[in-house]
Amino acid sequence: MKSIESEIKDLIKKLFSEKKIEVFIGYENGTLPLRTTPYFVSPNDDLDKLAWNRFCSNNLAVYLPRVVAKKKGGNSCKVGILCKGCDSRSVVGLIKEKQLSRNDVFIIGIVCPGIIDTKKILSEIKSSDIEHIDEDDENIMVKFKDGKKNFRKKDHLYECCINCEFTTPFVYDTLIGDGKSSSNTITSSQKVAEFSAKSRQERWQIFEQELTKCIRCYACRNACPNCYCKECFAEQTKPKWFSVTNDLSDIIFYHIGRIFHQAGRCVDCGACVRACPMDVDLRLFTRMLVDEVKERFGYDPGLNFEEAPPLTTFASDDKQEFITEPS
Ligand code: SF4
Ligand code: SF4
Ligand code: SF4
Repeated sequence: MKSIESEIKDLIKKLFSEKKIEVFIGYENGTLPLRTTPYFVSPNDDLDKLAWNRFCSNNLAVYLPRVVAKKKGGNSCKVGILCKGCDSRSVVGLIKEKQLSRNDVFIIGIVCPGIIDTKKILSEIKSSDIEHIDEDDENIMVKFKDGKKNFRKKDHLYECCINCEFTTPFVYDTLIGDGKSSSNTITSSQKVAEFSAKSRQERWQIFEQELTKCIRCYACRNACPNCYCKECFAEQTKPKWFSVTNDLSDIIFYHIGRIFHQAGRCVDCGACVRACPMDVDLRLFTRMLVDEVKERFGYDPGLNFEEAPPLTTFASDDKQEFITEPS
């Protein structure tokens, strides 16, 4: 049977030859083991370098508006993109928010088996010892100079992949994969559920504590497809919302702004968490927001083009208990 990776290569070759796309955004293997990196391919580039494996973690939608704008230059141009469930929801979000047109993009959906958290594996071995990596249905097999070790895939997934509800893209032009790992109904995770169950004061304490690690590098913002503003509120000077210091109050202000801008937009792809060099557990806060939006408005972002995002619309029965009267 043809591997999914060969299927992707053959499809991209065909799409280029039929002139259905002019550029493709996919993955290639990284220079370090257990990692991949985004690969931007034009028709004359080496398609054999394209990769698909359980380490294809980037949400590639983040590059789409810039690649489309650059290629387009006034003419029509179609950009092909490989989308896991969460990535495809980001693409839908970008189209809904008018950052792209549906005609600009050819979505190659892929049924996502869940992505492996490289850091979980590297907490058990040293990357410099790795000689070869292979995988079967259940395991990642790592070979060293003097032995080998198997890692059960399901024990080494990213937090956001553990109970992912939307592994199969809802919107695509063509779909690769057998659809077996489609949605389940479990939401959130134990860690997020425990955090949500705490009192407001306890949650604030954890929020503050977690953010003491932040160095305000903005990698979380840069990795997120929803953060496409040409001028981010964090860098605006007129008005200046907060200072460029590493005081906790400034850090908190940035994060409150970033997190609330994600309401009804975050697809829980985990890109911001993976980008953070300080291991700030941003998912605690964004995932809680995802659950809150779902509970209040019954809305999951990026599943279709029709449903209006809750923060852009108003219903007479919307809960309003947060609105307080001056005493
Ligand atoms: S969040 Fe879901 S769709 Fe996205 S990488 Fe994880 S399992 Fe795949
Ligand atoms: S906030 Fe984080 S998890 Fe949510 S869409 Fe952006 S990168 Fe993905
Ligand atoms: S990526 Fe991490 S360290 Fe950088 S601004 Fe975001 S939370 Fe702070």
